[in-house]
Amino acid sequence: MREKPIPYGRQHITDEDVAAVFETLRSDFLTQGPKIEEFERKFADYVGARHAVAVNNATSGLHLAARALGVAPGQRVIVTPMTFAASANCIRYCGGDVTFCDIDPDTYLMDEGKLSALLESNPRGTFAGIVVVDFAGYPHNLERLRAIADRHGLWIIEDACHAPGAWWTDSAGHRHTTGEGSLADCCVFSFHPVKHIATGEGGMVTTDSPELLERLRLFRTHGITRDPARLSHSDGGWYYEMQELGFNYRLTDFQAALGISQLDRADAGIARRQEIARRYDEAFACIEAIRTPRRADDILHAFHLYIIQVPDRKGLYDFLRSEGVLAQVHYAPLHLMPYYRQFGWKEGDLPVVEEYYRHCLSLPMFPTLTDEEQQYVIDKVIEFVTR
Ligand SMILES: *Cc1c(COP(=O)(O)O)cnc(C)c1O
Repeated sequence: MREKPIPYGRQHITDEDVAAVFETLRSDFLTQGPKIEEFERKFADYVGARHAVAVNNATSGLHLAARALGVAPGQRVIVTPMTFAASANCIRYCGGDVTFCDIDPDTYLMDEGKLSALLESNPRGTFAGIVVVDFAGYPHNLERLRAIADRHGLWIIEDACHAPGAWWTDSAGHRHTTGEGSLADCCVFSFHPVKHIATGEGGMVTTDSPELLERLRLFRTHGITRDPARLSHSDGGWYYEMQELGFNYRLTDFQAALGISQLDRADAGIARRQEIARRYDEAFACIEAIRTPRRADDILHAFHLYIIQVPDRKGLYDFLRSEGVLAQVHYAPLHLMPYYRQFGWKEGDLPVVEEYYRHCLSLPMFPTLTDEEQQYVIDKVIEFVTR
């Protein structure tokens, strides 16, 4: 047993990060100030999107995206069941209904074949949009998804909380960074401490659409605008209007300062995650009882999570805990949560994701994981599965 357990993920805060936050704390702005705009600009450039809207967490970002896209009671949206609850909850917040579509057994992403079959077996207009997740950091091919969505008149929200810095390749051989706004309508990122970039709580929505940008900003701040071009009339310089029922989903300026400082190191973090993944891959390559993540040359996997599948997952989870390795399970399928069962979802509805859940385990994966710590994890995993 180790003195200090090894978590599955953790943030990395440097002296530069601390200095950036200090400096902003002593400035004139605490909530939305100049650091927000700078963070939005730099993040948009990082992912290659036209616009970015900073928010107080990704759950708020998903809610804003759903609201901006007009999700309303009576609408039905298709969501992957292999994700954190917020990816589906954003539809429910707006009164929409969720239909889960099973995952691909190799990538663990929403299965494009099953998605097409679902759309083709229902009348046009049954569904308003889809929420896909770049699960574990494996990026969706948005070219193919966009083609499916366009055929059926759907919008796309891409939950990229696991995948800032990932890329995929289109049929012409061009690389697309996750979150570039040309194919998904809105793409949402999280800056929770276990994610790639940490601001405490925090998130970002990217889009190429000026109309969606305007609505995202409006709903972020109470549905209030001061833009003279949008006001119905003006009583004077003080006058603003609340035009929609919006929220307060703003990020603070000192969190944005932390985000900017973290963003400067994002590529180094991705590179280190690749190294760690390669080392796990090699260590487990000839062990039949361990299935390692799918690899492909035409994508860059962002490796938020390194997930293996093993026959006795519960046994391995308990053994690793007892040895000081805090492996995790991502996730219990969303359709089997008590909240979603009330809509009729039950065991057996989505067999691929249910089978995946029986075997999956996320091993420690974060840039400051040391070689010594990783070797300890590898040794303990192999000790358990080969005994
Ligand atoms: C972390 C996460 C969220 C929620 O992010 P918060 O910033 O904590 O609200 C949503 N979706 C996915 C896939 C996530 O991993």
